[in-house]
Amino acid sequence: MEQVDCVVIGAGVAGIAVARALAQAGREVLVLEAAEGIGTETSSRNSEVIHAGIYYPHNSLMARLCVQGKWKLYEFCRNRGVAFANCGKLIVAATDEESEKLDAIRARAAVNGVDDMRKLTAAEARALEPNLHCTAALLSPSTGIVDSHAYMLALQGEAEAAGALFVFHSPVLSGQVTEDGVALQVGGAEPMALHARLVINSAGLHAPALATRIEGMPAGHIPAAYYAKGNYFTLAGRAPFSRLIYPVPVPGGLGVHLTIDLGGQARFGPDVEWIPTLDYSVDPSRADVFYDAVRKYWPALPDGALQPGYAGIRPKIVPPGAPGQDFVVQTQATHGVAGLINLFGIESPGLTAAIALADFVREAAGA
Ligand SMILES: Cc1cc2nc3c(=O)[nH]c(=O)nc-3n(C[C@H](O)[C@H](O)[C@H](O)COP(=O)(O)OP(=O)(O)OC[C@H]3O[C@@H](n4cnc5c(N)ncnc54)[C@H](O)[C@@H]3O)c2cc1C
Repeated sequence: MEQVDCVVIGAGVAGIAVARALAQAGREVLVLEAAEGIGTETSSRNSEVIHAGIYYPHNSLMARLCVQGKWKLYEFCRNRGVAFANCGKLIVAATDEESEKLDAIRARAAVNGVDDMRKLTAAEARALEPNLHCTAALLSPSTGIVDSHAYMLALQGEAEAAGALFVFHSPVLSGQVTEDGVALQVGGAEPMALHARLVINSAGLHAPALATRIEGMPAGHIPAAYYAKGNYFTLAGRAPFSRLIYPVPVPGGLGVHLTIDLGGQARFGPDVEWIPTLDYSVDPSRADVFYDAVRKYWPALPDGALQPGYAGIRPKIVPPGAPGQDFVVQTQATHGVAGLINLFGIESPGLTAAIALADFVREAAGA
């Protein structure tokens, strides 16, 4: 059986960043990806926002890796010519009650190390964004947007330059924990079996199911997978704002917000739709809720302007209604298996955090 030092399962942004970090640390790395190319699942079905790190619980992995990852990502984009824009974001209050909530949001952000947020009056906010309707707003200057595919390609290029090998059409079917690593059975056009000293399970939505197919991985540590679809609607015509616009968060989500891509296309979403199986279709009738939500901060939204866009699916590991779940990076310390690291629940802000997450995984692997 072929022997490999490290196998990374999944070439989404997390797996690619981990492969780069391990390869740059001098490890031999093989990336096995089921699809025909990199980033075909959640990593290319998101808002492409570089999150500031505002809302996450203090000291959570999400909070720490988002803030660290944001600065690493900006530096990475600048140095590698990856398109990005540090456009900033406004969190807008629609009522006096919501205005008061902005202070709590700013305080939470400051605790997380996001200490550059500024509260604006309605007039100050409108001076920045003339189309905006609000009672007050919070400006987050460090929020931005990134070309997610160029970002992943650049990470892949650096991983390969450091010796990592990417193999596509290679779904990992099953595995067995051994004395000194994990044996893997790989399907696809050219099925193979190999043995790795270290396996990183970064299979995104499929990571919990894959973990159950690795014999010797204790079942009690494998979370159930839940899918929370986020639907987007795109706006026909020019974007009415130059910054990202978010309402004050509602329980369970960030609310229907507006993001802009680097081509200037505005999109609203994602909403939250719990689904039993993977399904990326966008139901046009969901637009009704979007019109009402968007008109709270942009009353001029014309009828018929929203078109069904695309959807992404959050890799949840807690059911609807449960408190939010942090990123889970499971090592031997948790599950007792020396050669296996599982990444579970890598939902937003995974794109922002990926480079910092990869450094965290590399350290956890002792590399
Ligand atoms: C609606 C939505 C909006 C978001 N917006 C943002 C945002 O604006 N900013 C931000 O920072 N984050 C955002 N995120 C989060 C971010 O997109 C994810 O955290 C990130 O893309 C997760 O990357 P990943 O590599 O873990 O998973 P994925 O990108 O899903 O990659 C997993 C890979 O594993 C492969 N795979 C699966 N099973 C196997 C197997 N058995 N063998 C081999 N390969 C396998 C898959 O083909 C896939 O390529 C958003 C997420 C969603 C759902």
